[in-house]
Amino acid sequence: MSLVMKFGGSSVADAARLAQVGELVTAAMPRRPLVVLSATGKTTNALVAAAEAAEAGRTEEALGLSAQVRRAHEAIAHELLGGVSPELESAFDALFGDLDSLLRAVAILAELSPRSRDAILSTGERLSTRLLSDHLGVPLLDARQLVHTDSRHGAARPDTEAIARSVQRRAVPALEEAGAAVTQGFIGSDAHGTTTTLGRGGSDYSASLLGAALGAEEVQIWTDVEGLLTCDPRVVPAAHSVPEVSAAEAAELAAFGANVLHPATIAPAMEAGAMVTVRHTQRPEGDFTTIRPGEVGTQSATAIAARGPVTLLNITSPRMLEHAGFMQRLFDVFGRHGVVVGLISTAEVSVSVTVEGEVDLDAVVREIGGFATVEVARDRVIVAVVGDRLRATRGLAARVFASLAPVANIEMISQGSNEINLSVVIRADERDDALRALHAGLFEGDQPTV
Ligand code: ASP
Ligand code: MG
Repeated sequence: MSLVMKFGGSSVADAARLAQVGELVTAAMPRRPLVVLSATGKTTNALVAAAEAAEAGRTEEALGLSAQVRRAHEAIAHELLGGVSPELESAFDALFGDLDSLLRAVAILAELSPRSRDAILSTGERLSTRLLSDHLGVPLLDARQLVHTDSRHGAARPDTEAIARSVQRRAVPALEEAGAAVTQGFIGSDAHGTTTTLGRGGSDYSASLLGAALGAEEVQIWTDVEGLLTCDPRVVPAAHSVPEVSAAEAAELAAFGANVLHPATIAPAMEAGAMVTVRHTQRPEGDFTTIRPGEVGTQSATAIAARGPVTLLNITSPRMLEHAGFMQRLFDVFGRHGVVVGLISTAEVSVSVTVEGEVDLDAVVREIGGFATVEVARDRVIVAVVGDRLRATRGLAARVFASLAPVANIEMISQGSNEINLSVVIRADERDDALRALHAGLFEGDQPTV
């Protein structure tokens, strides 16, 4: 039995939060957790600012930010550990000595290489993990000896086989002996041992990679929301957390900008058969979401989301039918103008597509106008109902359309080819009412069971 527990920046922002993290880890000790931490609060942002100030030649400002980061961590140490021990003091001296040398070097060269930037940013996670491991009295494992990557600084790619070997050699014995261990998210090292990072927000990815390497049954992502919600709660106050979603559903929702883990992030855990749970650090007994590799759930619809603005193009050509190369010609125009097409729906003599963002379509419309009639409708949004079992749920589409009828006019319908997404295009000003009506129709009150 093993477990990865990852805590994000807001979960480790101050001494009180770190103490709470300590309690959660202690309670999980029977499952031998490997604890993966982000940097505290806004520390990574402060380090980015320091690096950029140094590059711009503002050395004093850069060193001032470094000193500020040090004071913040010393303050946490006083509150969490009752003071800064001589060992911790010399650990801080070493870390900030390196950081300040790096910042000075960047300032002298007036150049911030991705490699220097990674070294600077790694300070945040190295500090937060040091504080928690001191607090818990469990080993601190340097992620640079576990998470092996290539040398693409700022967006390094993992070497999963090398990670598996190091995790078995270094992490497993530590977990067996001490019952828990702490390591850094976000950072790794390349074949030369040089510090790399997985990209901003990369700690989730670290947790997933380490979970896969450990063969963990669960990767817990502790954050400040109770998992995935049925809809954006700022628009729909009645939104509630979804108990279980599949990896495919999570990916679909992420594409709609829902506050979900990025699909690439959880892929290693999913492929290794581990479940990923998303939990609220300050409400550990509250609701949470489990993301599972396979198809899950009994709910017909899992969540709803909206994306936009998009522009809807209705292209009509009476000769589309006989014209073998029509679609090719059409998409050739989009391709040449770098226009990204979202949804597509076709009929006998017309095709409708959505185009993301506020792009200039004049040239595109003119060119298509040469062989078809184009109608352009701006300020539209895509509203999607996502669920693994949509297709198998009789009456679902009827419920979607009945819910929307009083508040929005549906201008296009598309059922994603993966069959877990039913999308409609409506006017942007109808979006919020549409989401509320749809949420009420699908998730509130008594729902007919199918
Ligand atoms: N500390 C890093 C960041 O802020 C990584 C993370 O928090 O996931 O981007
Ligand atoms: Mg994050």
